[in-house]
Amino acid sequence: MRAMVLDKAKLPLQARDVPKPKPGRGHLLVRVNSCAVCRTDLHVVDGELSNPKLPLILGHQIVGRVEEIGEPANFKSEISDVKFAVGDRVGIPWLGWTDGECVYCRSNRENLCDRARFTGYTIDGGYAEFTVADARFCFHLPEHYNDVDAAPLLCAGLIGYRSYRKTGNARCLGMYGFGNAAHLIAQIALYEGRDLFVFTRPGDVKTQQSAKALGAKWAGGSDEMPPEKLDAAIIFASVGPLVPAALHALAKGGIVVCGGIHMSDIPSFPYADLWEERVITSVANLTRRDGEEFFEIAPRVPVRTHTETFPLEEANVALDRFRAGKLKATAVLLVNPN
Ligand SMILES: [Zn+2]
Ligand SMILES: [Zn+2]
Repeated sequence: MRAMVLDKAKLPLQARDVPKPKPGRGHLLVRVNSCAVCRTDLHVVDGELSNPKLPLILGHQIVGRVEEIGEPANFKSEISDVKFAVGDRVGIPWLGWTDGECVYCRSNRENLCDRARFTGYTIDGGYAEFTVADARFCFHLPEHYNDVDAAPLLCAGLIGYRSYRKTGNARCLGMYGFGNAAHLIAQIALYEGRDLFVFTRPGDVKTQQSAKALGAKWAGGSDEMPPEKLDAAIIFASVGPLVPAALHALAKGGIVVCGGIHMSDIPSFPYADLWEERVITSVANLTRRDGEEFFEIAPRVPVRTHTETFPLEEANVALDRFRAGKLKATAVLLVNPN
């Protein structure tokens, strides 16, 4: 099968013919139709995330069709409600496997599993014609979305949604960075009646205008203070200095949620900014429950995705444009388009 392979960090992906994977027990062999490009893919290519599987097929926002089903697993009740048949459309996310038995898994925090495996990082992902995935971690996708539009929902949507849920019932919600995930989650926040305050790079008037057009109450530079104190802020940009900036804009008892897997160092800040029960937290990965909730609400809003497509073989072009900030929308690789 055709695949784009990462041999080593900091090298371009190589277009290569590799053996088609075989589905093991409880696994689906999936013919990949589309796979969205995530900032995490860039972090892996750029060597900012440690110990990826190498060589590696990137990609953890995969939409495809079940081509073959491995032997049924022996997971009984847990798997019996995950029904996939050959030909079904399936979505494959970042969380690829958990042990189901560690202290985190047993307390509804499988996103923190000690032995978790991740699609397109510690197991091969979707920058290829076929991939295999543990059926228990795959999703049925809402009919509302075609294969291209559904792909960005699988990470930007899901992990963004987990970040958003950490903000509780915040009325005034800030978003630092207004890229793929923020754009998706802003739509849910507005649907749920939150007042939205969007912070961009200072001077990025175009993005500020697009945030206002979407319904933000205010948009400005990350060096500005919002007109009202924030009950919560989500940081989508991987820029550490935004953490004290967001903290400084919080009302008492407010929370700053860091939504990314990687961030530059956070500078020191006065304790007075944390005092009065303000909280800083991060979000790691996703649980299957996050996925179920998100795919239930997304088509109701309906959350719209904006995409820019590239053929699989142009994955390096998509990554380079992402790194340079030159993408107009979420990059989606077309692998076996319908
Ligand atoms: Zn576990
Ligand atoms: Zn991702």
